[in-house]
Amino acid sequence: MGINRRRFVGGSATALGALSLGAPAVLGQAKPKVVVVGGGAGGATAAKYIAKDSAGAIEVMLVEPSKQFVTCFHSNLVLGGYKPMEAITHGYERLASAYAIKLNHQAATTIDRDKKQVRLADGSTATYDRLVLSPGIDLKYDSVPGWGEALEELMPHAWKAGKQTQILKARLDAVADGGVIVMLAPPNPYRCPPGPYERVSMMAHVLKAAGKTKCKIIILDPKDSFSKQALFQEAWDKHYRGMVEWINAKMYETIKSVDPHRPIPVVRRSGHRHGSHPGAVCRNL
Ligand SMILES: Cc1cc2nc3c(=O)[nH]c(=O)nc-3n(C[C@H](O)[C@H](O)[C@H](O)COP(=O)(O)OP(=O)(O)OC[C@H]3O[C@@H](n4cnc5c(N)ncnc54)[C@H](O)[C@@H]3O)c2cc1C
Repeated sequence: MGINRRRFVGGSATALGALSLGAPAVLGQAKPKVVVVGGGAGGATAAKYIAKDSAGAIEVMLVEPSKQFVTCFHSNLVLGGYKPMEAITHGYERLASAYAIKLNHQAATTIDRDKKQVRLADGSTATYDRLVLSPGIDLKYDSVPGWGEALEELMPHAWKAGKQTQILKARLDAVADGGVIVMLAPPNPYRCPPGPYERVSMMAHVLKAAGKTKCKIIILDPKDSFSKQALFQEAWDKHYRGMVEWINAKMYETIKSVDPHRPIPVVRRSGHRHGSHPGAVCRNL
């Protein structure tokens, strides 16, 4: 359904219904203003459809500090060498010019709800009639003892696509045959429940394709089950037998800390130590 301004202002039954606009905040202002904070999948989509469906009747500003958005989706294809980084890297210019969206490449720092203003990192403000907040989620850097933001390049997480994807790919490609990769899977809830296991599958594929079938990927999981578990485990057994080991919450609960500076002493399910292996250590891949 096309939404003209009248329908939009009346609060049509769409995801934008909550955004029904009254009079502009500033008297005499020509158009009502929507400010969207966050230019990820959610915010950019909201900005697009508010601008598109209002056919220019609403002024839309997209507040996003980064000039490019690198998608997590399809980042496994980059990891596997099937796509270049450029294929998952997107600028905002086309979106802005196609739908007359104003871009403001700043981070929002505070919101003044009484004044209906968003304060930006450079000290400027953006006034709105309606505000859309879509800043996504972030890592809890203090959630793994021994690891933190300063160590994210040494022990990559690859939750955020971009540099982290590149580091992980370089580390994966450099693993020697027989190397061990340990992934700490996240507890629920988190983005993309099958994500870690999809990633493990792609990593196993990369290793196998390079003839490194003595490598092992160990998933230390705080969960006792995971999304599409039976399917994943069947595929791992069929295609990457002996290369992927999933260990459930029992072992995870015994983890005291990680040491990004040292090779991993691998503790197997039976509990015996089986040597020290160099290899990429990744959390929440
Ligand atoms: C490895 C991986 C694979 C995935 N695969 C898929 C998939 O195949 N299919 C799928 O549907 N989903 C997938 N997802 C999930 C998907 O990436 C997320 O659901 C989606 O990105 C969430 O969109 P968002 O707009 O809420 O947040 P984000 O995409 O995180 O965007 C948030 C944006 O807000 C900006 N921001 C943050 N703070 C501020 C601020 N203060 N001021 C201004 N801007 C700010 C950030 O810079 C960022 O650009 C995957 C996720 C991961 C990690």
